[in-house]
Amino acid sequence: MKLYDQTAQKLKELIASGDISPQAIQQAVEERARAINPRTNAFLRFYDLPCTQHGSFRLPIGLKDNLSVKNQLVGCASRILEGYRAPYDAHVVERLLESGAILQGALNMDEFAFGSSTETSAFGSARNPWDTERVPGGSSGGSAAAVAAGQTIWALGSDTGGSIRQPASFCGIVGLKPTYGRISRYGLVAFGSSLDQIGPLTKDVTDSALLLNIISGFDPKDSTSANCPVPDYTQALTREIKGLRIGIPREYFIDGIQPEVLNAVQSAVKLLEKAGAQVKDISLAHTKYAVATYYILATAEASSNLARFDGVKYGRRAQSRSSGRPAIIDLYETTREQGFGDEAKRRIMLGTYVLSSGYYDAFYLRAQKVRTLIKKDFEQAFNEVDVIVSPTAPTTAFRLGEKINDPLSMYLSDIFTIPANLAGIPAISLPCGFDSNQMPVGLQMMASPFAEETLLRTAFAYEQATPWHTERARL
Ligand code: GLN
Repeated sequence: MKLYDQTAQKLKELIASGDISPQAIQQAVEERARAINPRTNAFLRFYDLPCTQHGSFRLPIGLKDNLSVKNQLVGCASRILEGYRAPYDAHVVERLLESGAILQGALNMDEFAFGSSTETSAFGSARNPWDTERVPGGSSGGSAAAVAAGQTIWALGSDTGGSIRQPASFCGIVGLKPTYGRISRYGLVAFGSSLDQIGPLTKDVTDSALLLNIISGFDPKDSTSANCPVPDYTQALTREIKGLRIGIPREYFIDGIQPEVLNAVQSAVKLLEKAGAQVKDISLAHTKYAVATYYILATAEASSNLARFDGVKYGRRAQSRSSGRPAIIDLYETTREQGFGDEAKRRIMLGTYVLSSGYYDAFYLRAQKVRTLIKKDFEQAFNEVDVIVSPTAPTTAFRLGEKINDPLSMYLSDIFTIPANLAGIPAISLPCGFDSNQMPVGLQMMASPFAEETLLRTAFAYEQATPWHTERARL
């Protein structure tokens, strides 16, 4: 038995029965992580932290490089944060440490989480463990690749427009974006503050529930954190979905979806129906505006959030050039010019443009209104159904280099994941098959705000009736 391929639940049982020590697990996982990192480029660096001696989950975990761990480097895979050390722990990191978690290291990502392939990382793309010529997805591509390759037991990522679910789908694992407000964002480097959520990337649905239990809950340090009770999410894993109402949104089954993805998702829906769910067609009429709306709001928020990286307080400071301009302006400009990659610059320019006076009403304000319409679509749908099912992404993992020079086609790969962020609702991606290249296909389920239990229950029922979650990438 390869320890690094096991789920957290299984390892927890092995520890409890005395069959294996946390140290043996840690050693096996760390060895694996280092041995194959040259092939996956999933870890950017390993932390230098003392070992925990107690807690109920003394298991290794990897963290996306935008989560703060006190005194450790946090870089968002960007040059501009070079040398920056977090002065405090993120709320989720505090919770993990209380649970006994062994924080392994920082995982690769698209620079500042801008992207869907991890190719915008300043430190080279992460690779898909199922085929290292393909992308692992993004922006939490390092998190997904590390879990799929057994370089960590489970991981945290962040999801602003699909960044947990899409890489989970590309790497054949489970990724959960919780309801906006379910998890504190304190200590997460902000991208789009009204959209960002932290969430688990795991080998199966049980582990997703376990990790959600650890990180959920109210935090006074995040003003958008929800003060509502946290259930034990593992109690939702009953396999029972008789009478559950499932909606199939017609706007999510469109031309251009890879036929193998469509087939796998349709078979999944049939299986859910056989298990007792009632399936019905629904409409989410404003879906076609979601990508445009997102790329206005997300870039607007990003341009504002990234204004703080100017060479004064954080990370890198460029050498001033004697330009004849005031030295401080020169410092800002040179630092930002050298520190940010192309995609970050593109986002900052787009965001600044849509917020500028004269264009604000035409773009930003209008996008806010469309966001409300998209949210209302979901509210209406959830009067009729409990769970909405769709593909996670229109395709399986694409090849490195295939889309990086075509931003629009890259942005379109988020078409099915973005609406959940705009509406603030929880959504999960789980494996539902393979294409003819043996690349995993992802199934997305969405539910109403704070209905994570319904989501996990439905996902678990599907997972337990299929073999996909037991497959491992051979690397
Ligand atoms: N791919 C989307 C983007 O580029 C979503 C990224 C994310 O969720 N962080 O913005």
